[in-house]
This record gives sequence, C-alpha cells and structure tokens, in this order.
Amino acid sequence: MIAINEKGYYGEFGGAYIPEMLHPNIEELRQQYVQVMEEPAFQREFRHLLKDYVGRPSPLYLAERLSGHYKATIYLKREDLNHTGAHKINNTIGQILMARRLGKTRIIAETGAGQHGVATATVCALMGIQCIVYMGAVDIKRQAPNVSRMRMLGAEVRPATSGSQTLKDATNEAIRDWINNPVDTHYIIGSVVGPHPYPDMVARFQSVISEEMKWQLEEQTGRENPDAIVACVGGGSNAAGAYYHYLNEKEVRLIAVEAAGHGIHSGESAATSVLGTKGIIHGSRTLLMQTPDGQITEPYSLSAGLDYPGIGPLHAHLIASGRAEAISITDDEALASAFFLSRKEGIIPALETAHAFAALDKMEYSPEDVIVVCLSGRGDKDLDTYIQHFDRF
Ligand SMILES: *Cc1c(COP(=O)(O)O)cnc(C)c1O
Repeated sequence: MIAINEKGYYGEFGGAYIPEMLHPNIEELRQQYVQVMEEPAFQREFRHLLKDYVGRPSPLYLAERLSGHYKATIYLKREDLNHTGAHKINNTIGQILMARRLGKTRIIAETGAGQHGVATATVCALMGIQCIVYMGAVDIKRQAPNVSRMRMLGAEVRPATSGSQTLKDATNEAIRDWINNPVDTHYIIGSVVGPHPYPDMVARFQSVISEEMKWQLEEQTGRENPDAIVACVGGGSNAAGAYYHYLNEKEVRLIAVEAAGHGIHSGESAATSVLGTKGIIHGSRTLLMQTPDGQITEPYSLSAGLDYPGIGPLHAHLIASGRAEAISITDDEALASAFFLSRKEGIIPALETAHAFAALDKMEYSPEDVIVVCLSGRGDKDLDTYIQHFDRF
C-alpha cells in the first residue's frame, strides 16, 4: 500500500525539515489541509473552477497515428488544453482556495521558467489577491515572455540576486518572505516538493488527472486501468497526478521520465533517480543531486521545467521501492520527439512533455498494451528553442 504516513513520509522519504520560525505556518497548514479539502463547499468551488475556468475534464485522446507507429494503443491525457497551457493550474486553483479558507490575503510563489509563476499570478488575479513571485535574476532575463505575462496579470516579480540567481535562490527568497509574514501570507509551492504537507496537498489537487483517466478509459476501452502511464518528472506534480489513483494497482506500470540533459554522466543533466543520493532539499528528505560533502549540484536540462536537482519524496519512494520505473532522456532525444509528435498528431508539446514521449522509444511493451502519456503542457513557450533546431529535424 503506497500512502503517506502521519508525519508526511512515503517510506523513508518526505517529512518537514524546516527552520523553527516556519513551524507555525507549516503546522497550521498541516492541521487543516485534509479537512478543508474534504469540505463539500470547498469541493464544489474547486470542481466548478476546474470545469468552467480551467476547461476540465481534459480530453483523453486516442492518438491513432502515434499508436500505428509504436504498435500499441496510445492515449494522450491532454493537460496542454488547460487554461494557461499546462497542468500547473490544477494545483494553483486548489491552493488559492485553500489560502482563502485559511484567511490569507497575500500570496507568494517561486518560479524557475515562469510557468508556475504565471499559473499563480492567474489565480491571484481571479481572486483579487496580492501576488508576489520570486524569480532568479538570471531566469528573469531568460524567460522574458513569462515575466511579462505575470506583470500583465498584476503580479509583482521580485528578482533573487543571490547565488546562481536561479530557482533555488528564488525558493530561498520566498521562504525568507514567509518567515517574515507568517500571519497573512500563503506560499503556493509549484510541485510535489517541499515540507509536508505540500507534497501530499499538491498530489491531491493534481489527482484530478488520474481520476478523469479512470472513467475516460472505462468509457473508451471498457476497463479503467491502462498497462502503463508515462509522465515526465521535474519535481513530479504532473506524474503524481497521473499516477495517483493507480498507485495501488500493481498491474499498472508507472514510468517516470527524467531529463538527462547532455547525457546522464556528462556532468550536465537532471537525472536525479540515477545520480541522486539521499539528502534534504527544500524541507524534505528525498533523492537529490549533490557532491559527496552535500553541496547541491547545479542541474542542467534544455527544458527549464525539468531543470531541478531533486525529485518529490513520493517519486523517490516509488523509484527506490521499484513501483515506478525511471527512464532518462537527453535534450536531443526530447527535441526529436517534439518534432515527431508535432508532425504525427498536430500537437506541439512543451519541451518537458517531449521527454515523456521520447520514452516510448525506450520502453518495452506488447502490441495489446494500452499506454497513457500525460501530455503535461503545450509547446508555445518553447517555440524559440524549437526554431533553433529546425535544420536538424
Ligand atoms: C513545470 C512543468 C513540468 C514539470 O513539473 P512537474 O511538477 O514535474 O510536473 C512538466 N511539464 C510542463 C508542461 C511544465 O510546465
């Protein structure tokens, strides 16, 4: 049975390793989150917004040309069709409603590529709540269109100017802000990472993905369970959502796809399940890429959403226990796969998502198998990157 325990552990991974000064904030959330989420009024509002604002249920699409090519039955779970273009909005809608129930009037978030920042700025605008997004100064330069989107939506984007001026520095700034504003502020974390209860709370909000997959598969194939579910893993929130209602269905294979960057052993990758060792990052005990003396290694992936040196504790447990299989995909393999999917199905995937599709070339399966790929997001944001590779594909 795969489930989180009272203290927030999946097996030996998880927990809440936080500075003393954050205890009141985390404790308030921990005591309330399950109860709040289970309130009928909360569920009504969450479901209503998922339906009419996000556009759910997202379709489960039988990709016939892809199925023909791979000689298996392949369905795509279309999170790319959600408002703002990815699965991230499922979580930010849930958390903004949680923040309101807890009486919070100010939202902070961290963002790397800007996708979570945009999803957070969107729901803050929707609710009329102040929004501050911390973002590394280097990322602000690299991700200009998303910075403009956040500003258009009324959010304040604050640069993090310490360290490498990227995601982990933005996270440190957000935590510092939260310590200084414990009463009125909620911190919206963007993936199944961070101290308990965040990984579980985010997984529950994203679990709508597999909840829909169950009835959609039943409707289309006559059975609820596929043979395999494939999803890319940065922190692991789209994967957690796609796996959630199948975690204890052992015959459903769970395939976690990570970014190998320039190659697993190139020194430039984000393949945490292969290179990671046990340690603590952003408040939880998990697998992370670090030097023997515990310095966090700079991760690398062409895809900004997979460029993270850890994985959520649920995924560390799924991989360590053998429940999930990890596959690593290089930048080039992901690019090839993005072009392939675009031309086979008329769907331009996010570069993160392209990693999941590339795994179809590496997995073993039989022709009777039904495989669901979580199409976590659309590729509009990655067009500039794709354009640079037009001559190669
Ligand atoms: C952010 C992002 C990811 C990676 O985040 P997870 O928490 O691992 O899901 C994957 N795909 C897309 C489209 C993203 O925007």
